[in-house]
Amino acid sequence: MEAPQSEGDPVTDSTPEGRASSAAALRARLAELDRDLTARLVELGRDLRARDDDLAASLGRQTNDLTELRDIVAALTDQVASLQSGGRYTAAPNWLALAEDDAQYRVQRAALVKWVDGFLRPTYGCQEIQDCWRYHARAIWELGNIWAEWCRIYDRDRPELAGALAWHDRWLPGALRRLEPVMLGCLTTCAERRTRNVA
Ligand SMILES: [Zn+2]
Repeated sequence: MEAPQSEGDPVTDSTPEGRASSAAALRARLAELDRDLTARLVELGRDLRARDDDLAASLGRQTNDLTELRDIVAALTDQVASLQSGGRYTAAPNWLALAEDDAQYRVQRAALVKWVDGFLRPTYGCQEIQDCWRYHARAIWELGNIWAEWCRIYDRDRPELAGALAWHDRWLPGALRRLEPVMLGCLTTCAERRTRNVA
């Protein structure tokens, strides 16, 4: 006994003509499904790409926000430490924490260059410091520290006398004494400058 065919079953006619007609209908239906599937896949791909772009943009924004927040927190931490220590605490510039092509490194170094070439050398002479000092890592560290100490003492309404005396008597002369041999031969030729291919 033949099983009853369910409603909608395309194979309803067992004659050769009926089977051919059903096969044609199936092929047409398959082609339709294939077109539909292709269209959905294209749409899905477009959707995923759009989400990917949105996600990348969102991640970029969040990374920038986090970097800004990190800088703000670091600055606030320094301020709190400075307040807690009655102005005795000042963060030293940390060049190791930054890559040389990092924007923050360039900003920090540009500020140091401005202070050294725009204030320190014109004011104090500092014959030990040659024009190529900014290409010497040792000079960047030494001058960065005395710059930070200068800011700690003088970036306030009432500079601290003991700090000012120590800076002039001890910290600046010490840094210059240590830097003299570092740039001794730089008047004629500077190995650091040549290594960096700077004119
Ligand atoms: Zn040099």
